[in-house]
Amino acid sequence: MARIHKLPVSVVNRIAAGEVVERPASVVKELLENALDASPSRVDVALEQGGIGLVRVVDDGGGIEADDLPLAVTAHATSKLRVAEDLERIETLGFRGEALASIGEVARLVIRSRTAHASGASLTVDGGRVGEVVPDGCSLGTTVEVHQVFGNVPARRAFLRSPQTEWSHASEAFVRTALAHPQVALSLSHNGRRVHDLPAVASWRDRIAGLFGAGLGERLLDVSADDGEISVRGLIGRPQDDMAGTRMQHLTVAGRPFRDRSILHAVQEGYRGLLLSGRQPIVFLSFAIPPDMVDVNVHPAKMEVRFREPARLYRLVLAAIRTEFLRNDMSTTLQPPEVAPEESTADIVGRATDDRGQAGWTHVGPRRQIGVTSPTVPAWFGQPASPSGRSAPAAPHGRAAPLWEQAEPQRPAAPGDGDAGTTAGGIVPRRERAVQMHDRYIVVECGDGIEVIDQHALHERVLYERLKASVAEGNLEVQPLLIPERIELEAAEIELVTDHAEALDRAGMRVEPFGGATVIVTSKPVLAGNTPAADIVREVLARLAAVAPDGDASMLVDEVLHGLACRAAIKAGDPLSHDEVDALVRERRLVRESHHCPHGRPTSLLFSRQDLDRQFRRT
Ligand code: ADP
Ligand code: MG
Repeated sequence: MARIHKLPVSVVNRIAAGEVVERPASVVKELLENALDASPSRVDVALEQGGIGLVRVVDDGGGIEADDLPLAVTAHATSKLRVAEDLERIETLGFRGEALASIGEVARLVIRSRTAHASGASLTVDGGRVGEVVPDGCSLGTTVEVHQVFGNVPARRAFLRSPQTEWSHASEAFVRTALAHPQVALSLSHNGRRVHDLPAVASWRDRIAGLFGAGLGERLLDVSADDGEISVRGLIGRPQDDMAGTRMQHLTVAGRPFRDRSILHAVQEGYRGLLLSGRQPIVFLSFAIPPDMVDVNVHPAKMEVRFREPARLYRLVLAAIRTEFLRNDMSTTLQPPEVAPEESTADIVGRATDDRGQAGWTHVGPRRQIGVTSPTVPAWFGQPASPSGRSAPAAPHGRAAPLWEQAEPQRPAAPGDGDAGTTAGGIVPRRERAVQMHDRYIVVECGDGIEVIDQHALHERVLYERLKASVAEGNLEVQPLLIPERIELEAAEIELVTDHAEALDRAGMRVEPFGGATVIVTSKPVLAGNTPAADIVREVLARLAAVAPDGDASMLVDEVLHGLACRAAIKAGDPLSHDEVDALVRERRLVRESHHCPHGRPTSLLFSRQDLDRQFRRT
């Protein structure tokens, strides 16, 4: 073992920097907090290349004295607290005195500042080397520029994602902080383009509207609860404005955005029974709590806080949300099954929320109409197979052919083929009698017995095989979307889209970043029919997230095709017309290994006539 020695300051700073600066978004957060601590009326944030190239934050706050500039970039130097007791009642966003020192360690940092009573000065720190303070004719307030984040730390730079992905994290950091400070005018630009321009406003609702659109601003419901010492106020979404992820759940305490699993759990409880499983509500909650009841010094990047009595906050949040839903008539948006119309909403809420684990409500929405009335085969079955029989069942690879293939002569299937006709061999096959049962199974008489088909599993397999063959042959039919579909995604999902753009593209899904947390889908395969692109993209991303990003390209494409097939296929519970049933049964012959869906579940079970005869003691 080597002897112990004290680390030089630069190494200490570099280690600390690793905790404070994770990516450009951390720089945005820290600089924005510093600006807001200086009591500005306006702060402008500008980024280049997702913040990797440049983060610039300009404020018109109090400024820094020229003599203090070297201290501002020194670790553990701060103007925000003096003695340990100050930690008990922190009212500023910063207090650790670490941010500027850490950033200066891993980038080139330039500060220009002027206070009301002195002339301006500037200071540059480049990879930990602090320059001289020089006079600067800047205006009142402070401008901080951070160039080339991790430019001098190749190991960290390698972990940065694409500028697009870094941008989506950085803009999220801006949004979270901007939400907590409606009284300050804020703007955000990326590569010279203004993305947010938020005036100073008096109400939280107005700031939310500025960030997410007037539509959402108007739809949110006011909530509040108070226990005399602690209070929560907020704006929450209606159940039908639910989201796939937690991105629209914002918590703030004393101007500080924070994360807290327990409070979000209380939110879930408040919405229990009102949301479909897996869906998340939109909530903006702000807590007013005496400073000595909350510890903000528990996380190096100040993302989390600790409350002295978390159970009290939990109860308050739950009460705030439930009271609102009891007051609001939710019956226009939710339909309780088997509930007498005269029963009050309060009764229903009481039951829905007490009945743990049993959400008794179902969403009323436009039910997907699955060709129930359509006399012809609907588009979602995909194009009929070409009469050339290109995709007719290939000779099974070294295994016995599926039973129905042995039982009946093979023939290329074509539309209308289900009718009796004469095949080349001169055998007259009977029309297969196929009936849908319980909206999930199709029972077919086949040459050797009775087959029970799982309609979803088979259709999924059919679609998958068709898609796969088209991709392999380079003739995948893609439908460009006249109106591209916009989808809101989590930052990690945006990352996946960017990483797998090529695989998506090869599978006919063109998904492009659209700034912030939005992507647009501009095309999808014709075989996907009317399935919403958002459903497909989410399914596909969930699958891609589970495989190594640098996996074999064709395997990634395959993953996309599986996801596509799974989403676009008819579901268990979809009623089918006779024509649809017939089309699906015919399609069965077109796919190899069609007795298994892509997940490996069987698509059909065969009850042979022999077995049936034996069971009924006929033999
Ligand atoms: P902290 O914010 O935790 O005090 P920082 O490293 O972020 O630590 O900043 C160090 C000090 O530099 C702050 O305490 C503050 O006095 C000063 N400072 C930084 N940014 C600004 C700004 N935009 N306006 C005024 N003073 C600032
Ligand atoms: Mg700070």
